[in-house]
Amino acid sequence: MIRRVKFLAKEAQLRVKYMTSKDCIFCKIVSGEMKTNFIVETDKVVAFNDINPVSDVHILIVPKKHIESAVEISDSDASDLVEMHRVAKKLVEDNKLEAFRLAYNGGRFQHVGHLHMHLLAGQKVDWKKL
Ligand code: AMP
Ligand code: ZN
Repeated sequence: MIRRVKFLAKEAQLRVKYMTSKDCIFCKIVSGEMKTNFIVETDKVVAFNDINPVSDVHILIVPKKHIESAVEISDSDASDLVEMHRVAKKLVEDNKLEAFRLAYNGGRFQHVGHLHMHLLAGQKVDWKKL
């Protein structure tokens, strides 16, 4: 019970930190204002390692365009979504991942309000931390 309360408190803290950032942190990463090593960069998408990995492989696949979340996608975002999945395929092939998961968080599980797909692979995924 206490662990659950602590977990929810930490989650709320993180959410406030990300949501109250003056600007969107993933937009800052995309623009280069926040230095990040890109594993893949295309004209529409970047992919980089998650700063706080919950599995052996934990890569974020992010559209350059600021889209708020997986439930705020419109027809005009179609090519960005396709490109995200193209990049996922490339990462799966390049890393020879035999088993993997692609995940979107939403609502209170989403801490950064800029669409991103988690590519997860490895022995264990700590879903509680995702
Ligand atoms: P979500 O909870 O789905 O919004 O996931 C946001 C993810 O972004 C978390 O897994 C964080 O660890 C990750 N994250 C936050 N800031 C950075 C950063 N500067 N570089 C890489 N990953 C980050
Ligand atoms: Zn953004």
